[in-house]
Amino acid sequence: MATDSFIIKNGRIINNNSVVDMIGDVYVRKNEIISVGVPINTDCHDNGNVAVFDASQCLILSGLIDLHVHAYEYATPLGINIDKYCLARGVTTVVDAGSSGACTFPGLKKFIAERSETRLLCFLHIASHGLAAAGCSGFGAGGECDHLNQVDVNACTTTIAANQDAIVGVKVRLSADVADNGKHEEEVYRRALTAARKCNVPLMVHHTMSTIPVQDLAGRNGLSCPGNLDAGDVYTHTFHGYASSIIDPVSKTVLPAIHNAQKRGVIFDVGHGQGSFSWTAAEIGAKENFWPDTISTDMHSGNIHGPVYDLNLVMSRFLHLGMPLSKIISAVTSTPARVIGRTKTLGSLEVGREADITVLKIVDCDIILEDCQGQVRNIKKRFHPVAVWKSGRMFPIVNIDNCPNEKSRCNGVNEWDKLKVKDENKPSSL
Ligand SMILES: [Zn+2]
Repeated sequence: MATDSFIIKNGRIINNNSVVDMIGDVYVRKNEIISVGVPINTDCHDNGNVAVFDASQCLILSGLIDLHVHAYEYATPLGINIDKYCLARGVTTVVDAGSSGACTFPGLKKFIAERSETRLLCFLHIASHGLAAAGCSGFGAGGECDHLNQVDVNACTTTIAANQDAIVGVKVRLSADVADNGKHEEEVYRRALTAARKCNVPLMVHHTMSTIPVQDLAGRNGLSCPGNLDAGDVYTHTFHGYASSIIDPVSKTVLPAIHNAQKRGVIFDVGHGQGSFSWTAAEIGAKENFWPDTISTDMHSGNIHGPVYDLNLVMSRFLHLGMPLSKIISAVTSTPARVIGRTKTLGSLEVGREADITVLKIVDCDIILEDCQGQVRNIKKRFHPVAVWKSGRMFPIVNIDNCPNEKSRCNGVNEWDKLKVKDENKPSSL
């Protein structure tokens, strides 16, 4: 029966920073949310011409938001098909993290955003060519900020001002190998901060193997990261174990600068990716009650078959670490909506809004799940996507059958020696 109306029944609705946590129904008519939580008698609505989805034992959530993905398929080596890897896994909105810069953004909009069912927004890279080729680990040496001619504040701010419907912030990668072996890093960072401040948008920073220190160092009169970030800026790849880790490798504690920055309102984002999630680092954080503000995947062509797989499995890692469920939900709904300035339209189930809705189930499992360097933990529960509606339209969920991927895990082990924060024993490889 084709109908514009549907009721999602008997699910646990967790919503709007968990202000709402109740068993109830969500009623949608013509892509508008009509009611949230109120029990609905199907016979009394739309003359009974209403589809019913039974969400018993499931969570009913606002459509999930993945704050860090690489969506520029075909134009950049990292790009993935977001409808296949995100929407089909329950994610209704993705934010591309700097795949495009001022010169290449029009293509991202015309060829990807306008042709995808998934809602696509983006952080604009401070480098005008974005991640067109350079600096993508595994795709060759060199980086997008090797020459400062490409790091054009004016081009960046002009493009943002003209595309506020699609661009939500500025992206920069602080890693010596993408800025002429670190020579330009500080200037690149300064320009990215300038562009973001001028446009009054957040700056998302990738900070991994950088010459910019995490904490201000005595006698050093320069920038630090997250020291120069403001409330609302995003520190992504929070739990990597490389040189610029948030963890002091000696004391095995989270650096004071990180706790202070979170208190100031800097957003700590997971950005799991191919190299940026270490079980060891995340466990040290968990011990100190240091949880990410946003949980994102950094999904790209190099990690969709492990170690990321999908957003649900990244959320599952934090469930395993003991992160409270309400915080996990906020980290993929209301908080990313706030970061991208979309609290009026996204991230919460509210009467009168467009119907972006995700139904998930927490299921028992027994899988060995790797981090980015092949370290493993035994996961006993995981999030599993059950249904998704984007703009009132239901899309099929496609289950993944590629996890765990032993080949991906063993590839990760090759990087283990580079880690500063890691387990006592090297994981096995093939
Ligand atoms: Zn990324």
